[in-house]
Amino acid sequence: MIARVSLEITLRKEFDYLIPPELTGQIEVGSRVQVPFGTRKIFGTVTALAEESGHANLKPILKIIGTQSLVTPKVLKLARWISEYYCCAPETALKSVLPEAIRKEKDGWKKQLFVRALDLSGEFPKLPKRQQDVWNLIEERREILLTKLIELAETTAATVRKLEDRGLVEITSEISERDPYAREHILPTQSITLNSAQAKALGEITKAMDAENPSHIFLLHGVTGSGKTEIYLQALAHALEQGKGAIVLVPEIALTPQTVERFKARFSSGKLQTLVAVLHSHLSAGERHDEWHKIRQGRARIVIGARSAIFAPVEPLGLIIVDEEHESTYKQEEAPRYHARDVAIMRGQMENAVVVLGSATPSLESFYNCQRGKFTLLELPERVDNQKMPHVRIVDMRQAREKGPPLFSPQLKEAIHQRLDRGEQTILFLNRRGYSTSLQCPKCGYVANCPNCSVALTYHRIDQRLSCHICGHNEKVPAVCPEPKCKNPAIRFAGTGTQKVEEVLAKLFPKARIKRMDADTMKRKDDYRHVLGDFRAGKIDILVGTQMIAKGLHFPNVTLVGIIYADSALHQPDFRAGERTFQLLTQVAGRAGRGDVEGEVFVQAFTPFHPSIQYARRHDFTGFYEQEIEFREQLKYPPVSRVALLTLKGRNEEKVKFSAEHLKRELEKTLKRASSGGASVPASRLENFPDGSPGVSSHQEIKGSFKDLIIAGPAPAPLLRAETFYRYQIMLRTRAMSALSRELARIIGSLKLPADVSLAVDIDPVSLS
Ligand code: ADP
Ligand code: ZN
Repeated sequence: MIARVSLEITLRKEFDYLIPPELTGQIEVGSRVQVPFGTRKIFGTVTALAEESGHANLKPILKIIGTQSLVTPKVLKLARWISEYYCCAPETALKSVLPEAIRKEKDGWKKQLFVRALDLSGEFPKLPKRQQDVWNLIEERREILLTKLIELAETTAATVRKLEDRGLVEITSEISERDPYAREHILPTQSITLNSAQAKALGEITKAMDAENPSHIFLLHGVTGSGKTEIYLQALAHALEQGKGAIVLVPEIALTPQTVERFKARFSSGKLQTLVAVLHSHLSAGERHDEWHKIRQGRARIVIGARSAIFAPVEPLGLIIVDEEHESTYKQEEAPRYHARDVAIMRGQMENAVVVLGSATPSLESFYNCQRGKFTLLELPERVDNQKMPHVRIVDMRQAREKGPPLFSPQLKEAIHQRLDRGEQTILFLNRRGYSTSLQCPKCGYVANCPNCSVALTYHRIDQRLSCHICGHNEKVPAVCPEPKCKNPAIRFAGTGTQKVEEVLAKLFPKARIKRMDADTMKRKDDYRHVLGDFRAGKIDILVGTQMIAKGLHFPNVTLVGIIYADSALHQPDFRAGERTFQLLTQVAGRAGRGDVEGEVFVQAFTPFHPSIQYARRHDFTGFYEQEIEFREQLKYPPVSRVALLTLKGRNEEKVKFSAEHLKRELEKTLKRASSGGASVPASRLENFPDGSPGVSSHQEIKGSFKDLIIAGPAPAPLLRAETFYRYQIMLRTRAMSALSRELARIIGSLKLPADVSLAVDIDPVSLS
């Protein structure tokens, strides 16, 4: 027998190896193996088995890693699709579907010594006192960890060994599973009786799950607190009843112990009792290893995790839930540049599983797919507790500006005062960390920029340094303007970051207990938990922060939310700037008034009439969608089309620019030809790899192949220089992205670039910078 192996080096090619007699029967598709390659030994994954090979002189596989195949055939198929659709090397895609901890050669289990009672007859000669004491403990428990026994019995290993010599106990080395949540105290919960909107939504989901062909995609649109999670929990129970497993994706930042506990608590007891495995980056490698194998062995039927949990080897898979589906963190920003929501949709289709996307502010992509009948829209229009949405007031900062620095409007200041008086809590949001966002010389116009990136340096008052938020470059604040001809000592800081907000607040409200939460203060793993714990316990009056505080936090005593500059995200050179602002404002505003008191939100803005701000004020998602989709239609931006962003980078700007122009000509030549010829790719080749856009028939796409293609650029990237590299971009837009990816792979495969210029392909990018 022959095994075809994809190696862990990017050769875009698979190799055949002999299966040696001693490994016969052990090697299957998905096995991890070690093989000889030239003079090296390399790891790889078996992608196929065959009777014979077209090649002669095959070398044998050296060894197999693990006792089970690690990449299930279904996940392997998904990896293939990723490599095709996202235009990346198959090896890169394959690598990303297995956690690092699983790819290791060494068996990653933790072994510990256990002592087990053997002779329970009681018919043995009397033991010396010390041995008898130890034996009593063992007899009572039957089995106990050696270290635990030594501690409890205040004894030594030697004494235990004596019992072993007598044949009373055995000491064995056994796997001791790590449980990252072992220390959490989890109280089981029961299903809640759903309200009618919830019941209707759940009914549709379970009906689809019971159907003969359950592949169906739902978008569950409901404000925070409308009971989405309860629907997820009951849909998960339904999957378990069907004898199937499920994957729940949540954004990394939402993977707080509270979130995880909610899922664990529901399935920790009762007849559906199952292990809930958790996969995310804060676990230790060992914990991740164990969690993953609990899934692979079928002991954990529900997986909750961040982006890469979409590759968890759950089988059979009945349901995939993607919470906060609009979150940009679902997109991986390095190769393979996949979007976990779209991979979820694809996996659902491949494995006949129902997919539920949930959000209070759906992405335009998903809502568009509902409008076109590709997804089914389920709406939860009200909060479960019938609470009103918080009252949102827009403060026009153009007026406030005349009186001093526009950091806090009088209205917001007054509102904070009230909360402090009443013992209620406030959250203040600003999307910029640091103290001042730039250092300028008013005399000569000098701005302190990063030497490696085309951005201004941010001033961090705490350590008195200027730092770059792109590359991390750090330098001392100059005493005078560094321009040799200027040397003005009166250089000025401009722009506001969270540090400054904190400082100004402390002056305005000297008695208030203020805490800041951003990437600068949250350096250690537990910081986040501690601060949120203190906030929940009422030990903090005002929480100031960035993005970090925008998401999924539930604090009943927060009755005021202030957004310092609502427009800061609006003026970014990105067609999604309006969408992001709408989402952010809606989310941040949602932090207010979750208890008995109605919440109030102050949105300070310099463009108060901007539609993103106005629709967010009215909590009107549909209104926002309708005006935004019109803009996207006009300019042929997603979701009306799909984008492929090609970024060339190198240290020599001229070369990068020249290479980009060369690539553009190649693209025009090849793709224009492909589009005039009609079907550029035989439809049959697409059968195994349906388009990432769910429900879009690949045949339809092929017919109109590239007729709609727009090639824009090359142009300098919005961030022209990052980490010393100059970057130029070409943006392609078409509806036929599957076909375009295929063409791109071909064109790029034969493209000759200078050695010091590299090219990154990003399909469906979420960041254009
Ligand atoms: P979301 O996920 O949309 O934010 P949740 O499912 O977390 O909403 O629900 C918010 C709160 O309301 C939770 O504490 C939840 O237990 C509770 N809840 C959900 N559904 C109901 C219901 N039908 N009746 C009473 N309480 C509910
Ligand atoms: Zn930099």
